[in-house]
Amino acid sequence: MTEPHDESRDEPRGPAPQGGPPLLEVTGLAKAFDGVEVLRDVEFAVQPGSVTVLIGPSGSGKTTVLRCLNALETADAGLVRIGDVSVDYSTRPGKRALSKLRAQSAMVFQAHNLFPHLTVLRNITEGPVVVQGRPQEEADAEARALLESVGLAGKAEQHPYQLSGGQQQRVGIARALALDPQLLLFDEPTSALDPELVGEVLAVMKDLAVQGRTMVVVTHEMRFAQSVSDQVLFMDGGVVVERGEPAAVLTDPREARTRTFLHRVL
Ligand code: ADP
Repeated sequence: MTEPHDESRDEPRGPAPQGGPPLLEVTGLAKAFDGVEVLRDVEFAVQPGSVTVLIGPSGSGKTTVLRCLNALETADAGLVRIGDVSVDYSTRPGKRALSKLRAQSAMVFQAHNLFPHLTVLRNITEGPVVVQGRPQEEADAEARALLESVGLAGKAEQHPYQLSGGQQQRVGIARALALDPQLLLFDEPTSALDPELVGEVLAVMKDLAVQGRTMVVVTHEMRFAQSVSDQVLFMDGGVVVERGEPAAVLTDPREARTRTFLHRVL
C-alpha cells in the first residue's frame, strides 16, 4: 500500500503554465439569498494546471463561489466558463446548461458525504457508472488505481465506517477524481478532521497539484496556501478584496482587511 507523502517533505512544484487561455474564467458573479447580497462582482481566472486558494472569514462567500462554479447553486448574474463550456447566469440557464457546467468540475466537500451502505469501491464507481454510464468493470479498475494513488490500496471492499476520517476524505478525493473532471473544487476539505489527520489529506492534495491538476481550494490551511498555491484570493463581505501570489497576499498584504484576517488566523 502506498502511503501519501508526508506534507513536510516538500516536493518542488514546477511553475504553473503561464500564458494561454485560462481553464476557468469567472466574471461579474453575483448572488443574493432572500434579498441579502452574498456575492458581488466576483471575478477571477485560473490557468490550467494551477492551484487557486480562496481565503477569508466565515460567511464571506467562499463556499457560495465554489457552488456557483459547480452549478450546485444558481447565481443571479455572472459568467462562468470552464474549458469550452460557459454559463451566463443572468440569462437564467436551464437544467441542461447547468448540468453541462456541473460535469466540468468535481467537488470535494468538507464532510466527505460517502454513502455509508456502499463499499469504498462502490462509492467511487457510483458517479462514473450511474451518472456517466461507464461500464462497471472499467470503473472498478480505475477506482482501484485511484485508491492506490491516494494511499488506500487495500480498502476497496471496506465500508466508510471502517476508515478514519482522513481515509474517508481521501476516498472523497478519489471519488471526485473518478469523474475525470477538468477542474477540482475543494470546500474546506480538512476542517472537519481531527488535527492529526489533516496532513495526510493535504499531502494527497499536494500530490494532485504536483501532477498538474487544476484546483480551486477553500481552506484555512495557510501553510498549504503558501507552499502549494499559485494564487490566493482573499474574500470579505462577498467581494474579492485582494489577490495575488501567495507570498504577496499572505506575507505582505496591501489591504487592511486582509492583514486583520491573517492576524487572526496565523
Ligand atoms: P463562507 O464559505 O465564506 O463561510 P458562504 O458562501 O458559506 O461563506 O456564505 C456566505 C453567506 O451566504 C453567509 O452569510 C451565509 O449565511 C449565506 N448563505 C449561504 N448559503 C445560504 C443558503 N442556502 N441560504 C441562505 N443563506 C445562505
